[in-house]
Amino acid sequence: MIVELINTGSELMLGRVLNTHQQWLCRKLADLGYVVTRQVAVPDTGSDILQAVREALGRADLVIATGGLGPTSDDLTRDLVAQLLGKGLREDAAVLAHIRSFFESRKRSMPERTKVQALVPEGATVLHNPHGTAPGLALEVRPNPFRANGQPSWLIMLPGPPRELRPMFTDTVAPLLQRVLPLASGFVCRTLRTTGIGESVVEEKIDGPMRRFVQAGLDLGYCARPGQVDVRLAARGGGAAQQVREAEAVVRELLGPHIYGVEDEDLETAIVHLLTERKLTLALAESCTGGCIANRITNVPGASAVLLAGLVTYSNASKQKFLGVQAETLDQHGAVSKPVAREMAEGARKQAQADYALSVTGIAGPGGGTAGKPVGTVFIGLAGPSGTVVQRQFNPYDRDTFKQVTTQQALELLRRTLLSGSAENLV
Ligand code: ATP
Ligand code: MG
Repeated sequence: MIVELINTGSELMLGRVLNTHQQWLCRKLADLGYVVTRQVAVPDTGSDILQAVREALGRADLVIATGGLGPTSDDLTRDLVAQLLGKGLREDAAVLAHIRSFFESRKRSMPERTKVQALVPEGATVLHNPHGTAPGLALEVRPNPFRANGQPSWLIMLPGPPRELRPMFTDTVAPLLQRVLPLASGFVCRTLRTTGIGESVVEEKIDGPMRRFVQAGLDLGYCARPGQVDVRLAARGGGAAQQVREAEAVVRELLGPHIYGVEDEDLETAIVHLLTERKLTLALAESCTGGCIANRITNVPGASAVLLAGLVTYSNASKQKFLGVQAETLDQHGAVSKPVAREMAEGARKQAQADYALSVTGIAGPGGGTAGKPVGTVFIGLAGPSGTVVQRQFNPYDRDTFKQVTTQQALELLRRTLLSGSAENLV
């Protein structure tokens, strides 16, 4: 199956917007077994969009185009595609009603121009957009004038804003593809998400035992990001499900508790679920992560059931004032030290009356390092019902990566403690 992706938008060419559709859609499509073979980004000019669509239709079974479905003068995709395929545009009553109610529910008057979004090329399937006004459109180009023998292609147009495109893809496009462009052979994909273990160690542990699966056709891939490594297992054909299931069992055996989730699950979601299930609460005392842990926890729906407070205590004085860290402890050991991390965690737990409290104090750099505590040194504390533990970590990266990795380590300390009931074996 030949799959091509066209991202339209002058803002992409100017570097004003990162083309996240490229990554997101390629990943989602690949996980369904539709691997993108070519991707192009073009500005919002008619000729560029036309040329890209014409060329892609000349090669691919499936063409996905993003952006340019809105109401403004630079939104040309719908008109251009109708023109290119010689199709008229008709006003779709259901889409128009949706646009009207979209504005009404927000108590806004509906600008006349927005009505163009209700125009649908003849024969196109409308992909409902619950998060915006412009619907997506799907068209089977049959016969396809741009392809040898008129071989048909599917052309799917999706709105530009990610919060509209993503749910539309998941809820509407994925099932549509499986119906209209089913894969010749079965396809199964599973992603196991790990943390607390480097990419090369993951590879070293599982490469050998996975060899027999790979020889039998399993596709094994790794994807490393700060503080985490994903292991992707994919297989095609009749026995795909069985093969992936067996490979997953072997990987789970080898990586054990380092696997914190599957597919798109993230660590903070796993933690909020664990705390919620157990009716436990959390407080945070952050220094060098500047609220990143609180940010991640509060990104999870339902976080309010577990997170009581998150303090960013950056100065020594605020560590004393809000967390009760002792002046002597700071004097004797310095703010970046095991005893201070301990007092921060215990102080936050006490102040917030939480079951658990996480603390972090470290040196993000580039300045502030010493021989004994070089830049990248960080102490992560966790106070809980059975006592307090403090981990020393070394994350000598740029500030942003330092924060991400440290946040990940803190969350992992909490998750592993919740799972095992104690953090002793981790420190
Ligand atoms: P709208 O109704 O908002 O105009 P649209 O379907 O016409 O939607 P565009 O105008 O192309 O889409 O893009 C709208 C916004 O969506 C852009 O300003 C940008 O913020 C975001 N966007 C568009 N394409 C991408 C992309 N490839 N990656 C990330 N964001 C994108
Ligand atoms: Mg637009």
